[in-house]
Amino acid sequence: MPIKKYLLAPGPTTVPPEVLLATAQPVMLHRTKEFSAILTNIQSGLKELFGTQNPVLTLASSGTGAMEAALVNMLSDGDSILTVENGKFGERWAKIAKGYNLKVHTLRYEWGSVAKADDVAANLRQFPEIKAVFMQGCETSTTVYNPLKEIAAAVKAHDDVILVVDGITSVGVYETNMDEIGVDVMLTGSQKAMMLPPGLSFLALSDKALARMKTSNLPRHYFNLNIEYQNFLKNTTAWTPAVNLIYGLEKSLEIMRNEGFANIYKRHELCANATRAAVKALELEFVAKENPSNAVTGLYLPDNIDGKAFTSWLRENAGITFAGGQGKLEGRIVRIAHLGYHSQFDTIVAISALEMGLIKFGAQISPGKGLAAAQAELLKPLA
Ligand SMILES: *Cc1c(COP(=O)(O)O)cnc(C)c1O
Repeated sequence: MPIKKYLLAPGPTTVPPEVLLATAQPVMLHRTKEFSAILTNIQSGLKELFGTQNPVLTLASSGTGAMEAALVNMLSDGDSILTVENGKFGERWAKIAKGYNLKVHTLRYEWGSVAKADDVAANLRQFPEIKAVFMQGCETSTTVYNPLKEIAAAVKAHDDVILVVDGITSVGVYETNMDEIGVDVMLTGSQKAMMLPPGLSFLALSDKALARMKTSNLPRHYFNLNIEYQNFLKNTTAWTPAVNLIYGLEKSLEIMRNEGFANIYKRHELCANATRAAVKALELEFVAKENPSNAVTGLYLPDNIDGKAFTSWLRENAGITFAGGQGKLEGRIVRIAHLGYHSQFDTIVAISALEMGLIKFGAQISPGKGLAAAQAELLKPLA
């Protein structure tokens, strides 16, 4: 096994040493002034990250927990919803809804395509009974970024429809600005752009969402956000929080604020541009047919390479962890993340590993061609 490992998958991502150290502090009782002070301190950073004046709730769960919490708190028995599917994570909404006696309309796209605001608008006109729309910011499985602003504008035209966005790989990658663009529930998880270990999820709620939460009646208890919100107002949490992850969160938000949110988004764009330039120079095909995400780049491997063998070889022999494909893309693609605690030279490592893997597996590429293209992109802001 290589001595040094590089985690370059779109979650979990690498955690900075300062954050790991923060999580190693002694556990404290959470019903204390000291812990409430930490909760107060994280709130301003979270609000800035989400672009909201409203509360951002922190739950002890993976991202899917926040997806389920959003769904059960925005709807009532027998309600109709619209789910937008342009990949594996989009399919999750309908799967969650199945357990709650909801009527599900689904807007489906070919994988690699983005969702279109016009289609959402047409569905809302055709099915006026729809109470909420569920979608992804970045669809991590196909590496596309959906046009959130346009879709939010289409939903906003309907006073009684809530827009829920899984921003698990878009919050912290792109400016979120949820109040301004009009997202009602924006959620994310700790293990992607937030530079934390897995285990926390976050939900920010608009005024419209807070009102809907009070009247929704689907079965729930742990994820009853009414209880969470009442506790939030008293500067505490409903249940025992993941105390040590919250120490880490305080540190990761401090690191983010020191870098500056605008600079974080620029860094993601730069590393994404460099990765895309390399993929292009190597004449490989992108998974994203349009709007490739700044969180992760997906590429098709040459037909004769087994994707699973490729990613395993890199992980086991070179210490490089890329993600393979999910669902129908399994074994065919590689996803290279550039999100969270990721710098320009992590991108260089990624491209170099990609090229070496391709050579090892017999692909006809010109070694260094991708690297040169990536370097040229990375030099641009330094010029
Ligand atoms: C990673 C990811 C999730 C997964 O959430 P977990 O429950 O934390 O595994 C959901 N949605 C998107 C878009 C993701 O990238």
